[in-house]
Amino acid sequence: MDDSRIGSRFYFIAKMKDQIPIDLVVTGAKILTLDEHFTEYDPGVIHIIGNRIHHIGPDDAAQQAVKARRILHADGRIIIPALFNSHNHAGMSIFRGLGNDLSLDGWLNHFIWPAEKRFISPETVYIGSLISMMEMIRSGTGTFSDMYFFEEEVARAADKIGMRAILGEGVMDFPTPSHPAAFATLRHTREMFNEFQDHPLITISVAAHAPYTCSPDVIRKAAELAKELNICSNIHLSETIKEVETITSRYGKSPAKYLSDLGFLGPQTVAHHGLYFNDEDLDILAESGTTTATITNSNMKLGSGSLQLKKLTKKGIHVSIGTDGPASNNHQSMIRELQEVARVQKVIYQDPTVITPPELLKMATINGAQGYGMGQQLGSLEVGKLADITIIDPGGPHWYPPFDPYNTIAYAMHSGDVESVIINGQLVMEQRVFPNIDEEEILDQFRKISQQIRQEIHQP
Ligand SMILES: [Zn+2]
Repeated sequence: MDDSRIGSRFYFIAKMKDQIPIDLVVTGAKILTLDEHFTEYDPGVIHIIGNRIHHIGPDDAAQQAVKARRILHADGRIIIPALFNSHNHAGMSIFRGLGNDLSLDGWLNHFIWPAEKRFISPETVYIGSLISMMEMIRSGTGTFSDMYFFEEEVARAADKIGMRAILGEGVMDFPTPSHPAAFATLRHTREMFNEFQDHPLITISVAAHAPYTCSPDVIRKAAELAKELNICSNIHLSETIKEVETITSRYGKSPAKYLSDLGFLGPQTVAHHGLYFNDEDLDILAESGTTTATITNSNMKLGSGSLQLKKLTKKGIHVSIGTDGPASNNHQSMIRELQEVARVQKVIYQDPTVITPPELLKMATINGAQGYGMGQQLGSLEVGKLADITIIDPGGPHWYPPFDPYNTIAYAMHSGDVESVIINGQLVMEQRVFPNIDEEEILDQFRKISQQIRQEIHQP
């Protein structure tokens, strides 16, 4: 091929590239991509076509000629990948502030489970989940993993507001508000998988509640379903000393060994909490590729204990971050959560070097995505990945002096500094306003539900 033909071919390709319609261009911000090399662009630009990042790089003079359906000027802002909340029970916002100062066991048996029996319905899950989603998006989260009841209502709420969600109907041995038995819940999980497999925002997971609430037969069937459908699974694991004692006396082994022997653990499984792993447990988790989600605030509030980060990372176990439900945390901000993870770990080890701010941000983004088998799609800002982006306004006094944005995010940022959030290429919050929902109407419905709950359980 002669040179002129090569030249004309390049010209043709360049013209073709020019003609690809760019849906959204975000310009002018400092971009922390959180890719493998922690690449930064300052100022940087992101081109979005459909729901994916088509281009990311320096915001230089060549960008002046770019034509797009919409240009979002984010001069002086900081952009990070939208945060990934590895564990939630979003609908539990209706119980926030009730049943406090109890141990996990007392809280579940004497408060939460009776309250769920009485008040959890498709309507309360829908409204309660929307309230949590508003709080999550307002603090920069793009994806959350949920384990609760009437998950089709959580899907409806996520679809409405435009949030990405991994949804698992909670599987337990005993009747739940939505199903009479564990096998009915697993059937429902399969139905939800069939219903939502092409949905752009919803991913279905198998969500077994915990080793102490799921018999061996149920855990085995749950693991088989996850493998058959090739979907992720998640479970509470080693959350309290009582759980370890209960499982050891029932089965003669630790909770992690119990799950491992039944085939539940694996590279698409996320185990929440993980406070009381022994050496064998750590080997089991590392060898199986299971991710552990630290749920730090809930563990502190319920007085359960603390995950020991160094023990896990030394074994090469991925650790991500989740908030847990709003009734045991009691907030839904991944910003607050990651900040407290850093502080708690430094206290536990009396060692300020135990984690750095960039590592912390990875725990709150890519580690969560990898745990649920979505690391190729989410968790960092790279060409070809889904366009889930958080835009932060560093204008507040706590951002000054602006030496290091990672450090400010880890130790000083407020959740309210999140200005706008893009999920799946769509602005689902712009200047702190949700374009897809009527916020006042939802708050009004939520107030009515919470008033009724308070009246019925005689709390002021
Ligand atoms: Zn939980």
